[in-house]
Amino acid sequence: MEQTLSIIKPDAVSKGVIGKIIDRFEENGLRVAAMKKIKLSSEDAGAFYAVHKERPFFGELVEFMTSGPVVVMVLEGENAVVKNRELMGATNPKEAAKGTIRADFATSIDANAVHGSDSLENAKIEINFFFSGQNIH
Ligand code: ATP
Ligand code: MG
Repeated sequence: MEQTLSIIKPDAVSKGVIGKIIDRFEENGLRVAAMKKIKLSSEDAGAFYAVHKERPFFGELVEFMTSGPVVVMVLEGENAVVKNRELMGATNPKEAAKGTIRADFATSIDANAVHGSDSLENAKIEINFFFSGQNIH
């Protein structure tokens, strides 16, 4: 069993597709072990995406992630990290495979509907960033 962190980004929350996205996870063997709806501060978003600090799109990324509430979840299941990334599809929705969350719900490389941890190591760091152990069930 693995755990991974998923974020439903502001574009998908404002479109009203939280339920449709969670359905994809549950239909594919990923269980919601923790969940909350929050609005990230610039400090939160900057710290969360600190690996991208030097990238040219960092400012836009922080601005977008703080533009409205997000839903943060811990997903649990077999191969959760890789399975979640497969369900999400490519970063750029134009390149995302048919039937993936980003192909179906994202509009651009910024407004790309979901975040998912990219490795087991980062999943642990990202889960700790948002949840304490007693809130993961
Ligand atoms: P995420 O980390 O959000 O799950 P990802 O792992 O598919 O997405 P990353 O390379 O980690 O992609 O980039 C983080 C986020 O930064 C992307 O989701 C996207 O919104 C934004 N981003 C990445 N590359 C670009 C780019 N070339 N131009 C604009 N924004 C970008
Ligand atoms: Mg990433």
